[in-house]
Amino acid sequence: MELQAVLEPPSEQTALVPAPPKVWTIEDSENLYRIEGWGDPYFSINAAGHVTVAPQGDHGGSLDLYELVEGLRKRNIGLPLLVRFSDILADRINRLNAAFARGIARYNYPNHYRGVYPVKCNQHRHIVESLVRYGKPYYFGLEAGSKPELMIALAMLEPTDSPEAEHNQSLLICNGYKDREYIETALLARRLGHRPIIVLEQVSEVILAIEISQNLGIKPILGVRAKLSTQGVGRWGVSTGDRAKFGLTIPEMLRVTNQLKDAEMLDCLQLLHFHIGSQISSISVIKEAMTEASQIYVQLQKLGAGMQYLDVGGGLGVDYDGSKTNFYASKNYNIQNYVNDVISAVQEACDAAQIPCPTLISESGRAIASHQSVLIFDVLATNQINPQLPKVEEKEHLIVRNLRETWETISVDNYQEAYHDAVQFKEEAISLFNFGYLTLKERAGAEQLYWACCQKILDICRQQDYVPDDLEDLELNLSSIYYVNMSVFQSAPDSWAIDQLFPIMPIHRLDQEPTQRGILADITCDSDGKIDRFIDLKDVKSVLELHPLVEIQHPDQPPTAEPYYLGMFLMGAYQEIMGNLHNLFGDINVVHIQMTPKGYQIEHLVKGDTIAEVLSYVQYDPEDLLENVRCYTETALEEERMTLEEAQLLLENYERSLLQYTYLKG
Ligand SMILES: *Cc1c(COP(=O)(O)O)cnc(C)c1O
Repeated sequence: MELQAVLEPPSEQTALVPAPPKVWTIEDSENLYRIEGWGDPYFSINAAGHVTVAPQGDHGGSLDLYELVEGLRKRNIGLPLLVRFSDILADRINRLNAAFARGIARYNYPNHYRGVYPVKCNQHRHIVESLVRYGKPYYFGLEAGSKPELMIALAMLEPTDSPEAEHNQSLLICNGYKDREYIETALLARRLGHRPIIVLEQVSEVILAIEISQNLGIKPILGVRAKLSTQGVGRWGVSTGDRAKFGLTIPEMLRVTNQLKDAEMLDCLQLLHFHIGSQISSISVIKEAMTEASQIYVQLQKLGAGMQYLDVGGGLGVDYDGSKTNFYASKNYNIQNYVNDVISAVQEACDAAQIPCPTLISESGRAIASHQSVLIFDVLATNQINPQLPKVEEKEHLIVRNLRETWETISVDNYQEAYHDAVQFKEEAISLFNFGYLTLKERAGAEQLYWACCQKILDICRQQDYVPDDLEDLELNLSSIYYVNMSVFQSAPDSWAIDQLFPIMPIHRLDQEPTQRGILADITCDSDGKIDRFIDLKDVKSVLELHPLVEIQHPDQPPTAEPYYLGMFLMGAYQEIMGNLHNLFGDINVVHIQMTPKGYQIEHLVKGDTIAEVLSYVQYDPEDLLENVRCYTETALEEERMTLEEAQLLLENYERSLLQYTYLKG
């Protein structure tokens, strides 16, 4: 175990605020990165200071994430890497279903829960396959939001034709914009033994649904999606209110019921659906939506519809920052609170109206799929601002002397004033330089002293309970940049597009104090390709505590850095499919890990894109490119601008690179 940070002699700069030497423990890392808050029961830290994963939650073995990554690298599976734990997926499904079972028992609710997984949340085959398999004991179904997703659902869900026990059938909820083929396909799925429910989201869809079902002679099960007036606030767009993109207003809903009545098909209308948006942070919003939706359900029943199902959509939140608050990256309720509120609201409304309680459906995507994926990437380099004092010169310029004096006299009593002095002197130094009164060396000296003052002041600030406003930026200004081997655009698009927060932390060295503060910059050449907002108990923080890179010395070769791995957690929902090829960084390597009685095994490996693959996505033919470059080398050889060896080296590199991963070999 290294105790680098502790053994370092206190530097001259911190001499005025002697901090008692303290041994850093893994508990300190737990508190700092809040791993219990967002990671319980799946992620924790072991005695070696590595992140461990317990994919089966409280019951089952665990594995050391750092060792797993090292092992995969030895098998030539490079970083960045997405690790998926199918057992976590199973555990999430179990939890959601167990919560509904408990709620139903507690309230004596006289009907069932039949959840569905919204395919759009993560459409990858291995994930949908696992979901269907783990969901089977609960009759867990699928939700499609488009024709391609319907095609996935139709083929992946196992039809169970048991008309005598229609509750023991997984549901296939058909949402989204629909054309003739969509509706025909969904209707014909009934003949296969599926239980498709076509949810009408546009007034025009009802005419199509009536006509197609009469032509085919298949009675549909229909639903309506309501535009609730309840406002689902948050970053994921507002899916409610009169201007919402989807769903029917109350007058439209009435029109639809009249049209169904005229076609003598009102009994086909059996489901009410709503979706108030994703990541609902506040339980009060959910309660309000449930109250409104329950009344609509009751009223539809009273109009003569054959109501049987209430589908409460998605929105069940994930606590990304572990704060258990109604902050957008968190949620102020747990799954059981959510479930209890859903059940009690419907029951109350139905009991009061003396109508039967519906089968309950939810379409939780984020809450099921997030925890299973961890993105692992390595740090390529850091740029550390390392303020060093310039040597005292014999005849120092007045401005340099002023800065040096400022530095010498910084103390707990005057640090704020000293900061203003330092800023003023630095600005003066730059003016003097611009007028030609300061040499380049003197200006360098002034800047170094300015940064040294900032560092010394920051060290004092960190010991204070309260930091004056004008000093708040110091932490950010003195932070390092950690260059990381990944593309935010490909692997964490929501971090860039909608400022979503994901927990990020080193997956090893957690028994050592992270003495640096840094932001992350990715390897795209886009200045937006960075992460500079991190989870915190209150609000967000602009820098992340990280370890300095450790240099390895080699005889006759420049030193290299020891690998430093960071993990970005709760990445399983939405990120993969929204990612893009910015700068032509392609899909990353993915491994599926499954626990076994003896440990774990790699269930699937999906290799990331090669450069040739990515180039062909944008319509280049790798062979043609190579041929072009070869022709150019021939000309260069002919004109003796290049040797044969150089030409060979270039072509070999070119050809080899085509077959390589688009990311760097850390
Ligand atoms: C996106 C979506 C969901 C999933 O929402 P989560 O917040 O991920 O649970 C469910 N239903 C519909 C109609 C959706 O559009």
